[in-house]
Amino acid sequence: MKSDLGESRIEVVQGDITQETVDAIVNAANSGLRGGGGVDGAIHRAGGPAIMDECRKLAGCDTGDAKVTTGGNLAARLVIHAVGPVYRDGKHGEPDLLASCYRRSMELALQHGCASVAFPAISCGVYGYPIPDAASIAIRTVMEFLKSHHGITRVRFVLFSDDVRRIFEHALEEARES
Ligand code: ADP
Repeated sequence: MKSDLGESRIEVVQGDITQETVDAIVNAANSGLRGGGGVDGAIHRAGGPAIMDECRKLAGCDTGDAKVTTGGNLAARLVIHAVGPVYRDGKHGEPDLLASCYRRSMELALQHGCASVAFPAISCGVYGYPIPDAASIAIRTVMEFLKSHHGITRVRFVLFSDDVRRIFEHALEEARES
């Protein structure tokens, strides 16, 4: 599914984010930036040791923030390591922290001259965020950013499963209508 917003486009697809040919892919990292399972493990495996070499020098990353490394062997030039919140009950700042890590990732992509960025469903795996809520926050935060900044022309949400893809598509339709 695609949605045009002036000079920019948001795309929702099912796939493996490590295979994306965009300027930057976003990693759902942990605050230690030490790798892990899920999409984090897949990115480090596909991108090779150069990514971890740079992560080690970054001294971690706060929840809600993001940091940049090389893309190593990936087609993407950069990896933006974003740290989403662990979901507890939604009353511990989780929505703001999740929005913040999407916003910070977009800011860093822009600062590093990226025109295209791919996101996974941050916090939707082991961090346990309810996926419809996370999808709505992700899409709305990126849309807001694109309306007020120029330079990023393509944002892709790359969802590993078809179920999650459908939820993100629904969130995109709702955000377009509101
Ligand atoms: P978090 O710790 O932020 O919850 P996870 O990596 O556990 O991060 O999960 C985030 C999402 O990424 C989940 O929806 C998971 O299915 C998905 N995912 C896992 N591997 C990949 C991949 N290679 N490409 C895209 N998405 C992936």
